[in-house]
Amino acid sequence: MTDLWKLTAHEAHEGLRSKQFTAVELTDSVLARIEAVEPRINAYITTTADLALQQAREADEKYAAGAATPLTGIPVGVKDLIVTKGVRTTAGSKILENFVPPYDSHVYEQLRRAGAVMVGKTNMDEFAMGSSTEHSAYGATRNPWNQEMVPGGSSGGSAAAVAAGECLVALGSDTGGSIRQPAALCGVAGMDPTYGRVSRFGIIAFGSSLDQVGPLARDVEDMATMLDCISGHDPRDSTSNPEPTPDLRHYLDRDINGMRIGVPREYFIAGMEQGVADRIEESLKLLESMGCVIDRDLSLPSTEHALAVYYLIAPSEASANLARYDGVKYGYSYREGESMWENMEQTRGRGFGAEVKRRIMLGTYALSAGYYDAYYLKAQKVRTLIHREFEDAFKRYDLLVTPTSPTVAFPVGAKLDDPYAMYLNDIYTLPSAVAGLPAVSVPCGESDGLPVGLQFIGDFFQEGKLIQAAHAFERAFGQANRLPEVAAP
Ligand code: GLN
Repeated sequence: MTDLWKLTAHEAHEGLRSKQFTAVELTDSVLARIEAVEPRINAYITTTADLALQQAREADEKYAAGAATPLTGIPVGVKDLIVTKGVRTTAGSKILENFVPPYDSHVYEQLRRAGAVMVGKTNMDEFAMGSSTEHSAYGATRNPWNQEMVPGGSSGGSAAAVAAGECLVALGSDTGGSIRQPAALCGVAGMDPTYGRVSRFGIIAFGSSLDQVGPLARDVEDMATMLDCISGHDPRDSTSNPEPTPDLRHYLDRDINGMRIGVPREYFIAGMEQGVADRIEESLKLLESMGCVIDRDLSLPSTEHALAVYYLIAPSEASANLARYDGVKYGYSYREGESMWENMEQTRGRGFGAEVKRRIMLGTYALSAGYYDAYYLKAQKVRTLIHREFEDAFKRYDLLVTPTSPTVAFPVGAKLDDPYAMYLNDIYTLPSAVAGLPAVSVPCGESDGLPVGLQFIGDFFQEGKLIQAAHAFERAFGQANRLPEVAAP
């Protein structure tokens, strides 16, 4: 069988189970696809063909022994801030260029246990700071739909790899939108789970009160399967929630008749492209025709402060988290200086890129004595207000629906000199992240030939409801697993 890389994970699982092809054949097909399109896309920082083939052989044994799970033998991409034992993990930074972790993250351990096949570590903005995957020390990733455009970020490598057929599913991380925004810009599905749903043991930290790992996939069913695999309590992460995870696949194929959906007014602002506005409007009509009760009379007035709150809290936490990269313990180390201090300064000065330095400076400033109350503490208070407004809304609605991003994919380089314009691209994904709520993005059509994403935001631990709505929408919309042509280089 040819073109196995075009299959969704659930289709591939069926094919493996019924012996139409082997996991080695499936992996070979994906590896060949990587070879063909990677020069144009640059979705990976490191590819792991040998490891993948070895894991594929083990997967075939599991199928033969009747011990397969839905992810056994499925080629996955893993964002390069997810620590993998023996496989270089860079977080997109030069400072971790040679870092080979001595242990596995919880999420990768779960994937391995399920029998998944890791084909590589995906490209990302350095330390997950960015919205375009241009802030990577390993070159920018390109959008599979149009290589002059960015794939979004920071999990742009994962989103592009899924869309380009360089893996079937992938893991990303979302601090303020880094799964949902690239999913939207690359035309795939992505979920930021509830804060605490997925263990961060072995995840390179950016903003610890915000970071969460989640799936990117070609359809909602695969997204549910991935989240099922990685979620659940892990005592090694003190923020991991003991709440039992329901079987998310159980929420597939349910109708959404009578579901109450709030559409917050504040998300329809100047700066949203007309093509995006049109697709969202059509999506709301479709949801209405499916029996959802759509209420546009919802106001979340603190929404406008989410960007400021995020850009105080995330950089503050980043400045603390990134203090560990001092050239002493691991990673890049400058040794030519005359003193320890000079070495440390040079290590950080040479190891970090411009955006990371900007965040460290912002965060250090916001946390410094005399400014702490005015910035960090104030931001935390407004964060509580944002959270409370969502809490009130979920007394009346099952879910909220918004656009995922105000724009479609933008040209490479367009926002690089204007950090504020770059930050604004996350305007719709930041509020739920600040509140710790789960949210998904699903494709809802295109504008100017580029994908548009629809966002559903849920209440705490309501991933089931999100899967239910996203799956029903995807089926009614009828464009799951739509793949771009990526011309040969
Ligand atoms: N784009 C946002 C930022 O630059 C969000 C990134 C993320 O979610 N990791 O911080």
